[in-house]
Amino acid sequence: MVHAPPKLQPGCPPVRINLFSDTQTKPSQAMKAFMMAAEVGDEQSGTDPTVTALCERMAKLMGKQAAMFLPSGTMCNQIAILTHCRPGDEILAHETSHILTSEGGGAAALAGAQITGMTGARGMFDVAALEARLRPHSRYAPPQTLVAVEQTSNLGGGAVWPLAALRSVADWAHDHDMPTHMDGARLMNATVASGVAPADMAADWDSVWLDFTKGLGAGLGAVLCGSEAFIGRAWRWKQRLGGALRQGGLSAAGCLYALDHNVDRLAEDHVNARALARGLAQIEGITVEDPETNLVFFDTTATGMTADTLAAKARAEGVSFSTMGRYRGRACTHLDVTAAGIEEAVAVIRRVRAA
Ligand SMILES: *Cc1c(COP(=O)(O)O)cnc(C)c1O
Repeated sequence: MVHAPPKLQPGCPPVRINLFSDTQTKPSQAMKAFMMAAEVGDEQSGTDPTVTALCERMAKLMGKQAAMFLPSGTMCNQIAILTHCRPGDEILAHETSHILTSEGGGAAALAGAQITGMTGARGMFDVAALEARLRPHSRYAPPQTLVAVEQTSNLGGGAVWPLAALRSVADWAHDHDMPTHMDGARLMNATVASGVAPADMAADWDSVWLDFTKGLGAGLGAVLCGSEAFIGRAWRWKQRLGGALRQGGLSAAGCLYALDHNVDRLAEDHVNARALARGLAQIEGITVEDPETNLVFFDTTATGMTADTLAAKARAEGVSFSTMGRYRGRACTHLDVTAAGIEEAVAVIRRVRAA
């Protein structure tokens, strides 16, 4: 659903304020220095001490028995789906979920599973919505074998699933013999915003992962967590897909650094997101969805401009944001954006909207 970045005119200035995505954060000098000093081994045979340290730390943080280091969040989702599902199975997930909208149809292409899109505000759904999708056990119906959620919900505006809502959905799934999967790309944003510990959020979820390349600022890496048995089976898929990472400790070190230095500061990104939302809401014709974390979605319909047009105009002034629909823009705060940058971005968007 992320549209292509606007086509750059020749002579387009460099991006000064990058609100395009928290995926574009760059490793700091200190993170790079820490990575350079990492002790490494062969990750594939379980002897890279830095990857092992990261996996042990992540398993503990998520309250799971085991963890596996992977290059990306998409690969965590795909390997989790391959591990939970068989060809012909059905996954229940929100209609805006990353696994449904943004992974190239991977669930169908790789696992042979179909995803039924659930509806509900802010990327969330409830037990009533699940009940409405429940199929009878019959030779006609696809076996429903997985319920998946996103914490936070990306296209749901960075919304945080409350603990009670997570619990009721997971309980329903388990009552119907379906395992549960949590896409925790921005799980630490949810923790920082709500004060709920990752292990509590993930308690009823059979698999859960965290991305290090979003607001946590690492260059590469995501960690998938679950039971010993789940991670054991997931490892076969990692091998099959060619995802083993030899001296992966270089990258895992960046992730360890991120856990130590870049988690608490996510609170700043949330403050900046609220400031950005207030600023954008004061621009004529722009309406803003209330941000809960670091994603700010806004609608440009009443400006008479598509989100792409506004994005291209802002980009020509050195401010970049993404578009998620004809009239829906998304601006994302992260560690490479300061409070002053937010003020400047609002001023630029106000100016180009009027021009
Ligand atoms: C970014 C994202 C992913 C994919 O993570 P990558 O590391 O970019 O592959 C999956 N789910 C959600 C909700 C995301 O925002």
